[in-house]
Parts: sequence; structure tokens; C-alpha cells
Amino acid sequence: MFRNYIFLFFYCLLFACSTEPDQKKSQKQNKAKIEVPVFNADSAYYFIEKQVSFGPRAISSKGWENCAIWLENKFKTYTPNVMVQEGSITTYDGKNHTLKNIIASFSVEKNNRVALFAHWDTRHIADHDTKNKNAPILGANDGGSGVGVLIEMARQFSIKNPKIGVDIILFDAEDYGQPEDSDYPIMQDSWCLGSQYWAKNQHKQNYFARFGILLDMVGAKDATFTHEEISAYYGQNTLQKVWRKAHKLGFGNYFIFQNSKQIVDDHYYVNAITAIPTIDIIEYNPSTETNFNKHWHTHKDDMDNIDKNTLNAVGQTLLEVIYTE
Ligand SMILES: [Zn+2]
Repeated sequence: MFRNYIFLFFYCLLFACSTEPDQKKSQKQNKAKIEVPVFNADSAYYFIEKQVSFGPRAISSKGWENCAIWLENKFKTYTPNVMVQEGSITTYDGKNHTLKNIIASFSVEKNNRVALFAHWDTRHIADHDTKNKNAPILGANDGGSGVGVLIEMARQFSIKNPKIGVDIILFDAEDYGQPEDSDYPIMQDSWCLGSQYWAKNQHKQNYFARFGILLDMVGAKDATFTHEEISAYYGQNTLQKVWRKAHKLGFGNYFIFQNSKQIVDDHYYVNAITAIPTIDIIEYNPSTETNFNKHWHTHKDDMDNIDKNTLNAVGQTLLEVIYTE
């Protein structure tokens, strides 16, 4: 009997010694096992081309109408949880519109969520061009690029579910802001009407995401992304996380650790109105007067303004962020 106890004691000791390192090993293996999908920049490029094929997508235009239908149906091939949020707005020129924010959700049952944003409308005028200033622009980069990257991400989510829940929220009427030389009376907050509407009327009661990432103008050749001031104020942790991941993946020439001036973009209203700390990944160009891409709000913002390497840098970095959360 006594011998049996001794035997049991040594057996337990052996078991304790042998399991602990094994458990540690398997935890390590689990950590190493997270496989981040490979972003397909050809696919993202195609999704931009498709949007541009509808023509300019300024609110209430024919191209806008057709593109909205395509976006909704496209997302429905990746998730059953797609909704189009409609809202009444009046633009600076006194026109009334019904805006459409297009929302695709993944793993709706999960409370641990992240929101990814972009605007899907395009500017109704080319106020920074030298000719045809009153004609609407194609917005391949300004509008199309962020959406193209996010549709490709949706495709990846449908193939392999990330551990966290994700909401892709495409804002309408970001780019219908009042131009500088406008004859209309000055309207406050004339830009970002879709995000203002969503921030005040979220698509789901008590909606919360731990953080948000907005993509805007993420497709131009050799684009650089800096730490924009509003993003740094509200979402310093997310900024650091995203930029570090980008550097780890070898995209340090796109994601620069440098502060830059504030930009009133959709993330401004998300941050000011909701409790979701949101950053903006937006091109900062030190060589232009506006610090935006040189083709910003001109007719040259077409498919020639899109570079697959930039799409890949942004898309792969975002997949890394989402799949390691
Ligand atoms: Zn714009």
C-alpha cells in the first residue's frame, strides 16, 4: 500500500513535469499558428475598376444608384448580414437627398468587434481641376480605393473567419462638401454627411466597436500615410498598432512614423459623436499645396491613379491587424 502511494507520488510528479512544458509548447504553437490570409491586390483593383465603371458616384446620380445596388449585392455574396441605412439630408446647395450607408457585418454574435470605414460616394464637382470644374469626378482613388480594399477584405472574411467580429461601414455623401468659392451661404459641417448621420443614428442599438479604421485615398502610387492629428488624439494605440504591423511586414515606406495636421474626414465625426476611437489612413503628400494626392478632386483621379502595390501595403497590413486581434 505504502509503495503504491510512493508510486502515485512519483507518477504525479512526472505528470506535472511533463505536462507543463507541453502546455506551454502548445500555447506557443497556437500563437505561431495564426495564419493571416494573403491580400489579393488584383482583386481589390478589380473592385475599384468595377465602381469606376458606373461613372461618377455623387449622391442621387445614376452611377451612385447603380453602384449602391452592386455594393449591396456584392457584400451579400460574402455575408448574410448586409444592410443599407437610409437617411434624409440637405446639402449646402439646398438640395434634398436620401443617403445610403452600406453596412456588411461579420460574426454578428461576437461582442468583441472592430469597425472598418470608407466613403463610397465621389465628388460631384472637380473644383481642384483647371477645366470642367463643374463636372463630377470618377474618384478612383478618392472613394473607390478604400471601398475596393474593404470589399477584398470582406471576401477574405468569408473564406476564413477572423476571431473577432468586424463591421464594414461604407459612408455616403462624404464628398459633397461646400467648395471654397461657393456662392451659397456658408454651411457648417457640409462634408461627411453619411458619417454624421451614422454616428447619430447607429445601425444597431448600443453598437460598439473597440476601435475603428477609416480608409480614404489609399490607392495612389507611392502614397505615404502619416499620423494625422485627430487620429493621434483619439486613437494613438490603434495608430501605433497599425503602423508597427506595417513596418513588420516591410511596408515602412508607405506607413511613416510622422505627425501631420488634422483633416476633417469621416473619422472626425465618428470620434466626436460616438465612443469608438477611430483613425484615418489617408494619403499625406508633402509635395502638393493641399498635402493631398496631386489628382485630388480632379478628372485625373481615374484608374491610372491606382497602384496595386499601395493597395497591397494597406490591405495586407489591415488583414494582419484583424486576424491577430
Ligand atoms: Zn474627396
